[in-house]
Amino acid sequence: METTTMPAAFIGHGSPMNALELNRYTRAWRALGASAPRPRAILVISAHWYINATAVTVMPRPRTIHDFYGFPRELFELEYPAPGLPSLVEEVSEVVEPTWVGSDVDSWGIDHGAWSVLTHAFPEADVPVVQLSINADKDFDHHFGLGAKLAALRDRGVMIVGSGNVVHNLRGMDPRLPDAGFAWARRFDETAREVMVDDPGGVPGLDGHGDFRAAVPTPDHFIPLLYLAGVAAAASRGTDVLVDGYAYGSLSMTSYTLDARCPRSADAPGGGAGDLPAGVPPDGTNL
Ligand code: ZN
Repeated sequence: METTTMPAAFIGHGSPMNALELNRYTRAWRALGASAPRPRAILVISAHWYINATAVTVMPRPRTIHDFYGFPRELFELEYPAPGLPSLVEEVSEVVEPTWVGSDVDSWGIDHGAWSVLTHAFPEADVPVVQLSINADKDFDHHFGLGAKLAALRDRGVMIVGSGNVVHNLRGMDPRLPDAGFAWARRFDETAREVMVDDPGGVPGLDGHGDFRAAVPTPDHFIPLLYLAGVAAAASRGTDVLVDGYAYGSLSMTSYTLDARCPRSADAPGGGAGDLPAGVPPDGTNL
C-alpha cells in the first residue's frame, strides 16, 4: 500500500493546442508530474465531463476522446493510451458516501481536459487514469464537499487533479490578445488566488464576487477548482500557485497545487497560452 501522501492539483488547461506545445504553462505541468511520487492512479475531475450524474470511468483501457472541433488533424491524432483502474470506483464510492457513484463502462474515457495536461505531466501514459464526472445538478458546496471527502484517497496513492479554468468566458475571447487578461478577468482571478492560497474554504463563496458572472458564465470550468479547494480544506492548508497568466483576454491559466515538490515556475513574460487555429470563431471551439 502506498504510504506517501500524493500531491493534488488544479490545472488551468486553456486551449487543447497546449497538448502539442511547449510553453511556460506546459513546462509547469511537466515539472509537476516529474516531481510527484509515482501515483497508483490519477483521478481527474475535468470540466469537459459535465453530466447529470456522479460517475467514475471503469474501463480498463479508456479511449482518448477528441471532444472539440476546428483544430488541426495532429490534435485529433493524439492518443493518450494510459490504462484505467476499474476497481477505483469502489474506493471513490466508499469515501464519498452517501453520494451515489455510477460506473461508466463505455460512454466516456479520457477527455481533452485530462489528456492535454497529462500528456505533459505524465508523458509515458503508464499511470492509470480514472475520470470523475461533474454532476451538473449539484451546487458549489456539494462539489467542495466531495473534494474534501476524496482527500482520503491521497494516502492511498491517488493523485487528484482538477482541470478547468478559473476564468473561462469563451464568448469574450479576443484572439489578438494571446497573453493578456481583461481587467475583470484579472480582478476575479486575483481574488480567487487570495482565497486559494489563504483560505480555500472560501472558494464556494466566490460566486458573490462582482465579476463572477463575467468570469464564470457557465460553471463547468470553475467547478474543478472546488475539488482542489475541498482537498486543501480537508488538510487545513492553503494551496500554492504553480503557474499563472491569461489568455485571449477572458481565460485565466492559473494552476494550483497542494503538497507538490516542484518550485513555482519563473514568471517569464509571455510564453504562449496555446495557439488557436486561424479562422476559428471563439465560440466554435470547445476549450
Ligand atoms: Zn476546457
